[in-house]
Amino acid sequence: MFTIAVTAEGADEPRVAVSPETVKKLTALGGRVRVQSGAGWRSHFSDDALKAQGADITGTAAEALAGADILLKVRRPTLEEMKSLNPGTIVVAMLDPYSDRAALELAGQSGASLFSMELMPRISRAQSMDVLSSQANLAGYKAVVDAAAMFGQAMPMMMTAAGTVPAAKVFIMGVGVAGLQAIATARRLGAIVSATDVRPATKEQVASLGAKFVAVEDDEFREAQTAAGYAKPMSAEYQKKQAELVAAHVKTQDIVITTALIPGRPAPKLISSAMVKAMKPGSVIIDLAAERGGNCEGTVAGQTVEVDGVLIAGPLNLAGSVPVNASGLYARNLLAFLELLIDKKEKVLRVNWDDEIVKGTLVAKDGRIVHPSLVQQTAA
Ligand code: NAD
Repeated sequence: MFTIAVTAEGADEPRVAVSPETVKKLTALGGRVRVQSGAGWRSHFSDDALKAQGADITGTAAEALAGADILLKVRRPTLEEMKSLNPGTIVVAMLDPYSDRAALELAGQSGASLFSMELMPRISRAQSMDVLSSQANLAGYKAVVDAAAMFGQAMPMMMTAAGTVPAAKVFIMGVGVAGLQAIATARRLGAIVSATDVRPATKEQVASLGAKFVAVEDDEFREAQTAAGYAKPMSAEYQKKQAELVAAHVKTQDIVITTALIPGRPAPKLISSAMVKAMKPGSVIIDLAAERGGNCEGTVAGQTVEVDGVLIAGPLNLAGSVPVNASGLYARNLLAFLELLIDKKEKVLRVNWDDEIVKGTLVAKDGRIVHPSLVQQTAA
């Protein structure tokens, strides 16, 4: 037997780290799941629904945490939570490990084994644990739905007795997980969809979803993908050519959704103020890269602003605005990860510290920061 604690998240995080479905499965694996009362409320997982699947509902976070072997969270736990854990407790969350280094070190000093789900290696065995994908997919969907709501026109073409309503033109910049779902969603709503990316592999994916691919396809473009499948930073010359092509395209578009990211770097700036100015009044830009500095010059993180008649939204935590699905999928990602740490026959925790997935996500252990990408950094 081992005890899993789940506590409520902060005021700005509607998601929760467990669902009725995963409570049932974790219980079957030998876990005693203790959930702080109300923790699932904003995801519409009531205490009763969690209890019905085997969870113990506790009145306070402290009661859920007392003597726990595992703590599951969406965001980095508070220092108070960390202090109440026994050394060696396994903590699994989206720790945002590259920000607030000083607090991360303090969390590590608790002696807990801290795992950061964002660092999950992108190997096929870990696909079911990939929180970046599960959350980005929902963000891509919601970006289109939000854009449609903000846009003062219809998305599909409509032929009526009073005349024809034209289909909206939607342009998706960055065709990773979020971008692909944005294309699919915009297509379902009847828009005319185009998309761009610097990775050549995306060209076929865009076409297969019925959208038009827009990019400068030179030699540099053909090489622009790392072995891990991510984008590389592009040369200044390529960026200039691409910017010219994109500028001509953007001014004809009604809705632009940007999702372009390069791991470990600020988001590339793809839409200049001049490009915004050239767009039609009433156009909408949704910048999913807002958290990393934004793909658009006018983006204000966490806000929607109007610039030259164009609405520019820089949402943070868009997946969290579909909390039922976001929590449900995140909880499943955590379940898949915990299955790796549990001896299913004996129903006990048994961590193989040499496993690639364990090593890839382990941030701190025995009071020290251990992840290779973090040991070089000094405390801020
Ligand atoms: P991401 O969030 O890092 O970036 C989003 C997109 O922005 C990427 O497609 C990237 O190429 C693009 N981009 C970067 N700079 C750009 C620029 N200047 N202009 C236009 N586009 C730009 O990416 P992601 O969604 O995490 O996915 C990246 C890749 O990894 C995808 O091919 C995805 O299918 C793959 N993936 C693999 C696994 C796995 O094997 N387990 C899991 C998830 C994703």
